[in-house]
Amino acid sequence: MSMDLSVPETWRVRGPLYRLEAARCRACGRIHYPPLPACPYCGSRDLERVRLPERGILESFTILYSVPEGSRHKAPIVLGLVRLGAARVVAEITDVDPGDLKTGMEVEAVLRRIRSDREAGIIRYGIAFRPLLRGGGGGR
Ligand SMILES: [Zn+2]
Repeated sequence: MSMDLSVPETWRVRGPLYRLEAARCRACGRIHYPPLPACPYCGSRDLERVRLPERGILESFTILYSVPEGSRHKAPIVLGLVRLGAARVVAEITDVDPGDLKTGMEVEAVLRRIRSDREAGIIRYGIAFRPLLRGGGGGR
């Protein structure tokens, strides 16, 4: 009988990210993603879990042509500021040619494997966003 001790942690990390769970401060109304135990703005510990919408609007983006050693194959990396309802999230924009990006375009959350540590048996996931592209199916 063997136990894989990495499984519980993997799920603990993956769950809230996949569900786009954030924490809303009941005192000042700010929304924090990933969720925090206390509000960094007003110090309140009265926070409630809220679920962010999976689709949002790309408000701005930055294209990084210089990326860390080890991630070179991914260059360039696009970092976007995405508005999800009342919250703003900074995340990688994926599955797109940077030349096709426009502010105001609709994007949807996708789960991406961001790092794997084979020795520990842990695979980490993170949220990225990809444009909701119309066409191909005729659109509306
Ligand atoms: Zn607050």
